[in-house]
Amino acid sequence: MSDKPIVLIVDDIPSNIKVLANCLKDHYQIKVATGGSDCLRLAVSDPIPDLILLDIEMPDIGGYEVCQTLQSQPNTQDIPIIFVTARDEDSNEEKGLQMGAVDYITKPVRPSIVLARVNTHVTLKRQRDTLKAIALKDQLTDLYNRYYLLEAAEQRMANAIRHEDPMSLLLMDIDHFKQVNDQHGHLIGDDVLKSLALLLTENCRKEDIAARFGGEEFVILLGHCDQVFAAQKAESIRREVEQLNPKGLSITVSIGVAQFSINDETIERLLDRADRALYQAKEQGRNRVIVAEY
Ligand SMILES: [Mg+2]
Repeated sequence: MSDKPIVLIVDDIPSNIKVLANCLKDHYQIKVATGGSDCLRLAVSDPIPDLILLDIEMPDIGGYEVCQTLQSQPNTQDIPIIFVTARDEDSNEEKGLQMGAVDYITKPVRPSIVLARVNTHVTLKRQRDTLKAIALKDQLTDLYNRYYLLEAAEQRMANAIRHEDPMSLLLMDIDHFKQVNDQHGHLIGDDVLKSLALLLTENCRKEDIAARFGGEEFVILLGHCDQVFAAQKAESIRREVEQLNPKGLSITVSIGVAQFSINDETIERLLDRADRALYQAKEQGRNRVIVAEY
């Protein structure tokens, strides 16, 4: 797999596609669509393009409409669009930019200009993506942060209701973590957090989300998972943590498990039930898993 950015070229005339592809092929992976509907399909299929060069005049769906559709969908609205067109009146350029396109190139194209503009907008897009990823991740552990978890959980809850699909949550806390920091210093404490985060990541399936929820508190949201499987998962993680010995230290975790129920109107309520189970686990001597009542 090449890690070159991907440009989707959309034009109903193959010779136009060829000209643009020749400008870019040394620096980019090229995807090609010969119409508007083809473009809408390819914009959401892997690998997702980093930028779209979009013709305006096309027989099936015109470029402006394609642009509007892409802009209205959450999964495509961040893909930068450059219109490429033979029309060179100012009003068209203005219209294109008003519709949310990042730039406008007129045919016949000059290869160096096409490459320069695509370079600029792909770079900007990648910088935006990086900033977004930083905003959603915990810097120390590279797990998702609390903000992302709460956002994602609301969506997952809506889906769980719609598809009557079970979903569970593990809330875990490192036992006596304050002692690790006090006795060995914060750098060692940070290493312990990172080791645990890695273990949690390795235990996650594609449909799960692991997040650092607070200082030494972590959450795993388990998709397609009822509380029986969630409790098994929690128990297996608890045992693995016992064997982890990060920096030669023996650490343990207490885990509260809660299955999402229709009565949990908000993620806070689900978290609250998991938190009460976690509290019980602490009360009963730590290093254990407790499943919350409905
Ligand atoms: Mg055309």
